[in-house]
Amino acid sequence: MTTVYELRCRECGKTCGVQPLSICDECFSPLEVAFDLEYARTRFTREAVSQGPLNMWRYRALLPVSDDYVPRTPAGFTPLVPAPQLAAHVGARNLYIKNDAVCMPTLSFKDRVVAVALANAQAFGFDTVGCSSTGNLANAVAAQAARLGLKTFILVPADLEPAKILNTQVYGATLVRVDGSYDHVNRLSSQIADRYSCGFVNVNLRPYYAEGSKTVGFEIAEQLGWRLPDNVVVPMAGGSLITKIRKAFDELIALGIVENKEVRFFGAQATGCSPIATAVKNGSEFIEPQRPNTIARSLAIGNPADGVYAARAIRKTGGWAEDVSDVEIVSAIQELAETEGIFTETAGGVTTAVTARLYAHGRIQPDELTVTCITGNGLKTTDCLNGAYEQNKAIRPRLADFEEFVEEQTAASQGLSLAGR
Ligand SMILES: *Cc1c(COP(=O)(O)O)cnc(C)c1O
Ligand SMILES: [Zn+2]
Repeated sequence: MTTVYELRCRECGKTCGVQPLSICDECFSPLEVAFDLEYARTRFTREAVSQGPLNMWRYRALLPVSDDYVPRTPAGFTPLVPAPQLAAHVGARNLYIKNDAVCMPTLSFKDRVVAVALANAQAFGFDTVGCSSTGNLANAVAAQAARLGLKTFILVPADLEPAKILNTQVYGATLVRVDGSYDHVNRLSSQIADRYSCGFVNVNLRPYYAEGSKTVGFEIAEQLGWRLPDNVVVPMAGGSLITKIRKAFDELIALGIVENKEVRFFGAQATGCSPIATAVKNGSEFIEPQRPNTIARSLAIGNPADGVYAARAIRKTGGWAEDVSDVEIVSAIQELAETEGIFTETAGGVTTAVTARLYAHGRIQPDELTVTCITGNGLKTTDCLNGAYEQNKAIRPRLADFEEFVEEQTAASQGLSLAGR
């Protein structure tokens, strides 16, 4: 290999240099970024990483950017927190949450992939960038493009959650609402990227974009003290994140930075859009596309680009995939908030509910070190909780009114009681 990294076909192995391209022109399989690990070995060390900035760019020696690239978006390095109370609820004893509900700047893990994609868009000389999005990607592209002074075309399904629409428009992005599902939106994006000079982060820049997801894996390992967990539970839309966390772990093993250990990968989907989970359960190599129908809009990709690879990663590592109903998603959102003080969006409800089921079914043992990935913030999907809580009537600003309120609550057996002082 002459360069430090280059595109390589996942199936036939053909190399294609460094250019805005995502499909092999030989066999039409997806391209991925391959690193010269011998070169990385001298630069990606525990010590070098620890001296890097407190964001995802501390791992830049294994990200596809040139040595003189100056990062503009300090995304990532989100908390990895023990989750003892959620653990008690689901029958776990060694459960951690990787909390990308607080990933900066737009409160989902998509900030990581966009940071890498836009760095490459600029390197390739694009002044216009775009994406097809189920919501979070739209937010991340809009925010970071604003900061970099790039023009945007952001395509989303027309009926997306209002908060995700607003969180795109506020950055001055050009939002294109498309009458159709994400899969229609994505097809249109490919046609635009073919015809016009535009860096579509998840189309012609997809191999670079996908590498950004590795930083979730690098962080998990570093935050565990350069150890790998036994299991990770990951939500799946296109199936990229789960495969890239695995790639991150494999690279760390190859560099000798962590012990060689097979981490089991568990995938989470909503039943209303579960093409990857279905393939895993059926033991099928083939992903049968579905028409999405779920409140977990950010995971609603019926024809997942990396579905085959996600299913393979799960099967090869001895993991499993599960899917959960919309009702289970909402109660898992509430359970996570009530036990750990983390308010996640519907995708996190999927992951939490699936995690609970994996313990319940004995797929994960209580003492195994397990990390569950919360990937987005609950403030973006508050619609799913409409009607979940009744509005207490307002009281007058008087102690007597307050005491009456407490009495009513106690009578309604809300478990509220006040001790006098
Ligand atoms: C996009 C997204 C995912 C899944 O990402 P893929 O890499 O497409 O599988 C998970 N969670 C949230 C909140 C997302 O926005
Ligand atoms: Zn090929």
